[in-house]
Amino acid sequence: MSRKIFKMPKQQITVPIFIPHLGCRHRCVFCNQWQQSGAKILPDRNSIERTINEHLGSRNPGVGRVEVAFFGGSFTGIDPEKQREFLEIVSPYVSGGIINGIRISTRPDYISVEAVALLRDYGVDMVEIGAQSFDDRVLESSARGHSSADIFRAVEILKKIQMKFCIQLLPGLPSDTREKSLKSAKTACNMKPEAVRLYPAVVMKNTGLEVLYKSGGYEPLCLEDAVELCKDMHLIFMADGISVIRTGIHPLSKDDEKNIIAGPYHPSFGFLVKSRIKRDLLVKAIRETTEEGKINSVKLYLPFIEKEEYIGQKKLNISYLRNFFNLKEITCEVVRGDGLRVEGYSI
Ligand code: SF4
Repeated sequence: MSRKIFKMPKQQITVPIFIPHLGCRHRCVFCNQWQQSGAKILPDRNSIERTINEHLGSRNPGVGRVEVAFFGGSFTGIDPEKQREFLEIVSPYVSGGIINGIRISTRPDYISVEAVALLRDYGVDMVEIGAQSFDDRVLESSARGHSSADIFRAVEILKKIQMKFCIQLLPGLPSDTREKSLKSAKTACNMKPEAVRLYPAVVMKNTGLEVLYKSGGYEPLCLEDAVELCKDMHLIFMADGISVIRTGIHPLSKDDEKNIIAGPYHPSFGFLVKSRIKRDLLVKAIRETTEEGKINSVKLYLPFIEKEEYIGQKKLNISYLRNFFNLKEITCEVVRGDGLRVEGYSI
């Protein structure tokens, strides 16, 4: 009997080095990187090396790629000498083949040919652009201090120098609408980034957004609308084969969660979005099955690798389907492979 070997995809780990607000020449209305990242102090050589070594020491054997990422500030806005200092700490790991790449995040208006050349000299191979939105009114209302033209210009430079780039979008900012967010997703998609990150806006303590929210001048997305919106943005990127590497801000500790005043924060936000995509697939598959005859129950054959997403947190997708289709019974069987299958029956 022949047996199929089920291969798990090679894993990648990212060693995050948080540099809260370093290089930022002003504060955007929604941003408080100290609270968002949970970092308490700026990193130095010792702490950077310690963080890298800890991640290297605890990685599992399935990890195929390791990269170091400078997050939480505007890397190319930092004094070039300090940028070199940071990168020189990581470079030996890269030249020794221990670390496979370096990524940095920065603002579009801080990207220049010279800035990218410096990054390239030290082995940076991915630039994350905090675009947030392509709508100028949204950018202005969020005190970003740059326009959509700056994003286009930054991407042009990165493409010319053949530097890989990732685009970060923040749906739900002041003056934003569902339509504007979807349009931003389509515009980002057309730029053919390596990847994107979606961070639906939340109101954090000690931000301009907190003041705006408390004065009644801003209403964040509710969790349900944010999940639906991010799902539709995901689908736009998926259709073009662009991976969404993060959806929702990183889970915070119970203490740091207290710094969220309002908005669609959920520690598993990305899972909720993926699970919603799967729920739609299940609805479509069940609809096609139930149309075939008079059935009141279904059996779902769920792909092993995505079974949790299909079932949903606390089996929410299953209870949704039971109510939506008025089904008497839903049974599930986990199968190898990646195809979803549904069988209908009556009891
Ligand atoms: S969003 Fe980016 S540029 Fe704006 S304050 Fe935060 S880290 Fe700085």
